[in-house]
Amino acid sequence: MFPQMAVTDVTYIVYLDEELCDGCRLCLPVCKFKGMISIPGERMPMVDQWSCTGCGTCVTTCTQGALTLRPKEE
Ligand code: SF4
Ligand code: SF4
Repeated sequence: MFPQMAVTDVTYIVYLDEELCDGCRLCLPVCKFKGMISIPGERMPMVDQWSCTGCGTCVTTCTQGALTLRPKEE
């Protein structure tokens, strides 16, 4: 039997800087892992730390520099 890839194997996660985010929401549809989630009534998205794989796709999409990859805190 092969060992399973677990969420704990992820070493990086995206962080959202609320000071820089303008709420354009472009980062929501580009995430294939549901790592960026929409909060009802809020323009600014939120990172789901359990779903984000640290792939970096949203980081390159954000025009405000509000997203950065950082080592995941345990
Ligand atoms: S793409 Fe950047 S500026 Fe736009 S909502 Fe996402 S984090 Fe905020
Ligand atoms: S780094 Fe990748 S997995 Fe994480 S929120 Fe951005 S696009 Fe989704």
